[in-house]
Amino acid sequence: MPVKNRFAELHDEITAWRRDLHEHPEILFDTVRTAKVVADKLRAFGCDEVVEGIGRTGVVGVIKGKSTSSGKVIGLRADMDALPIHEQTGLDYASKTAGAMHACGHDGHTAMLLGAAQYLSETRNFDGTVVVIFQPAEEGGGGGREMCADGMMEKFGIQEVYGMHNWPGHDIGTFAIRPGPFFAAADLVEIEIEGRGGHAAKPHETIDSTVVASHIVLGLQSIASRNADPVEQLVVSITSFETSSKAFNVIPQRVTMKGTVRTLSPAIRDLAEKRISEICDGIAAAYGAKATVNYKRNYPVMINSDDQTEFAAEVARAVSGQCEEAPLVMGGEDFAFMLEERPGAYILVGNGDSADVHNPEYNFNDDAIPVGCSWWAEIAERRMPAA
Ligand SMILES: [Zn+2]
Ligand SMILES: [Zn+2]
Repeated sequence: MPVKNRFAELHDEITAWRRDLHEHPEILFDTVRTAKVVADKLRAFGCDEVVEGIGRTGVVGVIKGKSTSSGKVIGLRADMDALPIHEQTGLDYASKTAGAMHACGHDGHTAMLLGAAQYLSETRNFDGTVVVIFQPAEEGGGGGREMCADGMMEKFGIQEVYGMHNWPGHDIGTFAIRPGPFFAAADLVEIEIEGRGGHAAKPHETIDSTVVASHIVLGLQSIASRNADPVEQLVVSITSFETSSKAFNVIPQRVTMKGTVRTLSPAIRDLAEKRISEICDGIAAAYGAKATVNYKRNYPVMINSDDQTEFAAEVARAVSGQCEEAPLVMGGEDFAFMLEERPGAYILVGNGDSADVHNPEYNFNDDAIPVGCSWWAEIAERRMPAA
């Protein structure tokens, strides 16, 4: 079965929705306009229930099948937020908001799930209930975590959840997925080194926080190379390094560093957190400085359930004739919180030869719309077949 005919008919209309969302990007939880567009459309489609304000600016729509006697309830989730990037695509529907851009294709994800919601509301050719989930703040803000914390899974009786992301550099109409750990846990670390500032010409009278912090940056690189089992995946990146001095001739009192840690297993995550503390404390002590480490566990590892992954791949093959094994991704994904609460699967769909996500020249490829919409609709219809 190729893409559904109805999505070929709706392609232009869904493309127009996508481009409107693209013109009006909103960051993190500020997806107020986007949420309103989504909620208004879901009501116009005739969803049985539309609830706004879940996880602050999240929206949920409920679509009951012709029959609900199976008792099954499936959650389909898209993300709505954009990124703080200044768009450089030159498109005639480019962002109208300076410094904000749909550079991760969440405009496409939202439009495709809306398309599927319209079709499922029209046809209702399934035995059970579909819950369409539109979340804010995927890009680091934990909008998925907030929706779960608001009791979304229990409130709507969701039993399993599915998610999808576009995948630049892969042909339109292709899918990729993998069972088990898929996207990495993404943690944040902040390190402050307190030394003793002074005159740059009298270093012997200071404790140079810059020198101490520099040793720490190098020392932290030994966690992945010397402490973690080399067959495990671990990234430790220090991405920000700021001294408290702006002058040429002042040794700074303080250095503040920020970074991120990416892991795919709980044991390696624990190890990284422990070793960062030990290395910071040990090196600081060796130089007479003081280290303060603030380690914040943000997104957990996103783990695809075996059964739902197999099913999602089967649906992908039905829609496109193929589904390959996806590589591990060291990026984080907020859908991990939903997969911690319910079994489910997350799949990648080809975005063609586009710039990579988070690049100012990236654009979601509208040719992927019928493929993505068909996958969503088939997930519902095949998982909860009508009698
Ligand atoms: Zn992103
Ligand atoms: Zn994304």
